[in-house]
Amino acid sequence: MEKLARKQVQALTPYLSARRIGGEGDVWLNANESPYDNEYQLTVSQLNRYSDCQPATLIDAYAEYAGVSSEQVLTSRGADEGIELLIRAFCEAGDDAILYCPPTYGMYAISAETFGVERKTVPLTSDWQLDLPAIEANLDKVKVVFVCSPNNPTGNVMNRDDIVTLLEMTQDRAIVVIDEAYIDFCLQDSTVDLLATYPHLAILRTLSKAFALAGLRCGFTLASPELIQVLLKVIAPYPVPVPVVDIAVQALSKAGLARQKYQVLEITVNRAYLQAGLSMIPGVTVHEGWGNYLLVQFPDGDALFKAAWDAGIILRNSPIENGVRISAGSREECEKTVTFIRNFYQA
Ligand SMILES: *Cc1c(COP(=O)(O)O)cnc(C)c1O
Repeated sequence: MEKLARKQVQALTPYLSARRIGGEGDVWLNANESPYDNEYQLTVSQLNRYSDCQPATLIDAYAEYAGVSSEQVLTSRGADEGIELLIRAFCEAGDDAILYCPPTYGMYAISAETFGVERKTVPLTSDWQLDLPAIEANLDKVKVVFVCSPNNPTGNVMNRDDIVTLLEMTQDRAIVVIDEAYIDFCLQDSTVDLLATYPHLAILRTLSKAFALAGLRCGFTLASPELIQVLLKVIAPYPVPVPVVDIAVQALSKAGLARQKYQVLEITVNRAYLQAGLSMIPGVTVHEGWGNYLLVQFPDGDALFKAAWDAGIILRNSPIENGVRISAGSREECEKTVTFIRNFYQA
């Protein structure tokens, strides 16, 4: 069967998501999921009918939350589908390239590879910021530049001035995508206001993290109306299932937003607890993080990761040397994790 597949597909290794890696335990801090399992009641009827391609209730609700107009919002099956749509809409297979800055989120590379689009990488600087001169020197053939802020897995926010410089540099040449999957934890750092100035800016958002709806698969792309119109040409005819719209609209209601705000605060407190608790352990470096996770460096990251795994504490190993990414889960999960790691280094 493999031989029948496209050559590019044969060569592909699927994205090793936290879920695919598996694990067994009662502390799940490996996928940056929310610890809150909020309840929803389905109110929909008429499942015999197709959904709207871009349901107005959902688009309007997210536009209001993000502070943009409805023509600037596209909804899709998670932010991951937004990544795919941007590459498919703007990159010619075999000719064009995307550019991204590792260490960062893995799906930019996987999506490009799937569509036969070349991948150019310009590593982040030593303080995990954009290397603008190197990006500028590598823009040949690049149609889409991906920037993740807060960056997964390092947790830091990209300098706003650098993003503006990047937008200036790429004008009339390439699309700049700012992946703001975690921006709800630090809304003051959003680049959404730059949409008014830069028609080639696209911002990715999701309900998977701060809205505690990873299983719903609902994301958004914010951009100029012209850019959104291009994406609408390549999106599937019925991308958002009716029950998804129903629940997403509840999450974005006044009550839903109030609950989200409260839970974001709680998770931020738990992140601070993790940071404080782990920082006190000799040899452990906790990097400042603005999402719902922290990148932590241990004397031996692999050993710590494996020992935690065996103890039923599932963390995420990272490409950074001795780095382990730890989600800010419930207070109980964070306490168990800090206790385990403290004991691990004191035994
Ligand atoms: C989780 C994540 C996404 C994917 O979000 P979905 O809406 O669940 O597809 C995109 N980008 C980054 C950086 C993420 O961490």
